Amino acid sequence: MNNQYPNITCFGGTGMIGGNQFFLQDEDARIMLDFGIPFKIRENYFEEFLKPRTAAGLEDYLKTGIIPPIEGIYRHDLLRIHQMIRGDNSLSLHQEPDYDLLLLSHAHVDHSGHIPLLDPGITVACSEMTRTILKVMSTVGQSGLESDYIEFRVRSEEGKMSKKESEPRIPRSFHLYNKENPFFQNERVLAHPVDHSIPGATAYIIRTSKGLVVYTGDFRAHGIRKEDTFNFVSLVEKLKLSGEKVLALLIEGTTLQREDISKQYSEEDVRTSLYTLMKSHPLGLILVDFGPRNVERLVLTVEAAQSAGRKVLLRLPDAYLLREIHKVNPAFPDPSHPEVEILMERRSSDPRKWEKEIIIEYKNKLVTPFELRKNPDKYVVLFSFFDINEVVDFNLSHGTFIYSSSEAYTEEQKFDLKRLRNWLKLFNFEFVGDPDNKDFNLPLHVTGHAYPDTIKEVIQRIEPQILIPIHTEKPEKFIDIAPLSRVLIPVYGETLYL
Ligand SMILES: [Zn+2]
Ligand SMILES: [Zn+2]
Repeated sequence: MNNQYPNITCFGGTGMIGGNQFFLQDEDARIMLDFGIPFKIRENYFEEFLKPRTAAGLEDYLKTGIIPPIEGIYRHDLLRIHQMIRGDNSLSLHQEPDYDLLLLSHAHVDHSGHIPLLDPGITVACSEMTRTILKVMSTVGQSGLESDYIEFRVRSEEGKMSKKESEPRIPRSFHLYNKENPFFQNERVLAHPVDHSIPGATAYIIRTSKGLVVYTGDFRAHGIRKEDTFNFVSLVEKLKLSGEKVLALLIEGTTLQREDISKQYSEEDVRTSLYTLMKSHPLGLILVDFGPRNVERLVLTVEAAQSAGRKVLLRLPDAYLLREIHKVNPAFPDPSHPEVEILMERRSSDPRKWEKEIIIEYKNKLVTPFELRKNPDKYVVLFSFFDINEVVDFNLSHGTFIYSSSEAYTEEQKFDLKRLRNWLKLFNFEFVGDPDNKDFNLPLHVTGHAYPDTIKEVIQRIEPQILIPIHTEKPEKFIDIAPLSRVLIPVYGETLYL
């Protein structure tokens, strides 16, 4: 047997939270595990007003190490731009891509964000829900290189993209697994849903020449879909019972760096807090802020508002997202839900195609800022900090802002919080759940990532020979958590031989 295989080369997601970019090689397989944005690296070089240049293709990303210098995976049009700029020591063009499959765990951009740069011949395997969310992101988002998830127009060597509608779009190839048929690539890969803070999250089991390699992606077991996570672990146990060996487990450890993990709340606890707060603030408008595409939290907020006798007002992008998600899984409500209406904000230009669709389809559900002003006690508006100046148009004398987002991690996020406080003061809105107010103890946010006890349970049940800690700043903590496994701590850019 060749000792070179299987092996995994590690880039983003190594010793850092998010940005997963792992490359699995076996005798007869080349499989990528996610291809996300490593924000830890990106924020060293870029910020809001200093972004990678679209016209430079791969160049700014490669130079700063946000994406790895690997042959045979990138789009030809982008490689040509790269060769123009770099000359001799550039990545070469390829006939067929060197990797034929990308296992995408979910649609958070720290896992999916660099898919737009990849050769469209690399099949992206994911859930139907994940593909739908990627499609919404590319439709609603600003056009540019970073939204070419589903299809793209070829760029010239100068980096220009033809604006002509007649210009053909190159489609990316997807493989959508389903629960009835979770196996693909000749039974080599098995996909299974897991619980996470975005719908459609998936974990994968890959059969290699020396045993199973298990990839958790991001997961938890304290959300509405916690059973998915436990069923996934049971499936690995079943494969073990049938004689298969778990060679390696790549498992996320996001929460291992946190000190205050004593309070392990669930999403249901958040719904109860939201309801309690809505009940205790019967007068004035309520704004609720949580992470983008956290549809589960959105649904819980609708339920809490309904119990408290308020309707939820969605912004147009959220209404569009909800409509599309409902088509894939009708268990999620769509904007026709009786407790949901849509906020018609001031717009500087004509509505885009998707906006027109929503405006026409739900014309009886539209609420203008003027109408909202007449009845602020009736509504909960789902807002993020970046929409806060819309509140100017409501022209209200008071209200409540409920912060249901995660802690501010970076300096930039801390600045945002400072600006948020200033705006709320200007509007005379109460700020409930300010992360800096340590006396406030209602649970308003729970993490999308498994608590340490869950991580421990998963490892004990899966019993891998080799454990590879990923998506964590504290990989060494796994040595104590997994005493029966050989813990291989990945190093950025290096290959682990299994
Ligand atoms: Zn992540
Ligand atoms: Zn995630």
